[in-house]
Amino acid sequence: MRKKVVAGNWKMNMTLDEGKGLADEICQLIKQKPLKIINNSPEVIFFTPFIHLAEVADIAKDLEGVFVGAQNCYSEPSGAYTGEVSAPMIKSTGSAYVLIGHSERRSLFNEGDKMLAAKASLAIESKLNIVFCCGESLEEREKNNHFDVVRNQLQNGLFWMDEKSIANVMIAYEPVWAIGTGLTATPEQAQEMHAFIRELVGEKYGQQMAENFTILYGGSCNSKNAKQIFEQQDVDGGLIGGASLKPGEFFKIIQSF
Ligand code: PEP
Repeated sequence: MRKKVVAGNWKMNMTLDEGKGLADEICQLIKQKPLKIINNSPEVIFFTPFIHLAEVADIAKDLEGVFVGAQNCYSEPSGAYTGEVSAPMIKSTGSAYVLIGHSERRSLFNEGDKMLAAKASLAIESKLNIVFCCGESLEEREKNNHFDVVRNQLQNGLFWMDEKSIANVMIAYEPVWAIGTGLTATPEQAQEMHAFIRELVGEKYGQQMAENFTILYGGSCNSKNAKQIFEQQDVDGGLIGGASLKPGEFFKIIQSF
């Protein structure tokens, strides 16, 4: 089902108390002005650090359309992997989502397609929904390689899934040059890539899956530019980094559909 989604990626920010305060403030705002229903119920997702998951899931549990997710998971269910957190462990906190393939994981932690595919596989087995990130660097865009890059990331990291599994996935298109830089893709650039991604989903899984597939934009999205971006035909919402740490700003983005 194609959804309208605003997801906040807190990255490595917020102590436990600060994170609980942030989630609580946003949830209070949503309670005062419940999510607008457009076609189907819109969703808000908090992608928090691992330490917040259980507590934020508890804060959000009575709010329809509000979910919690982890920013990463490991590719094995349990064992001698010191410092890692697995998909079943994330699921046990009351979280419903996991983010896989964020560009910071790809570039800073060398996560390649094979690793990401293994993580996604275990996430699906653990009954977590996935937001799978893709996007090109500035150099790749300047060389006009952006479509090939995104196609390869999706084909190698994600499109091994069968139809039943892919139905639990959303894709976030995040051009790396727009993440945390203040540079946003123009609404036209976002629409162009989202339409391309939808076409790829259609080629692999059929027209109906493509029409129902949720594709988010991420990269310096804020309350000033969200409306114009979300208005694009193939943009179903946003993955928000910096602006998700400010309750008022994040709430305005939620209201931008
Ligand atoms: C992100 O990290 O997913 C992101 C979109 O960050 P920002 O909004 O800060 O560019």
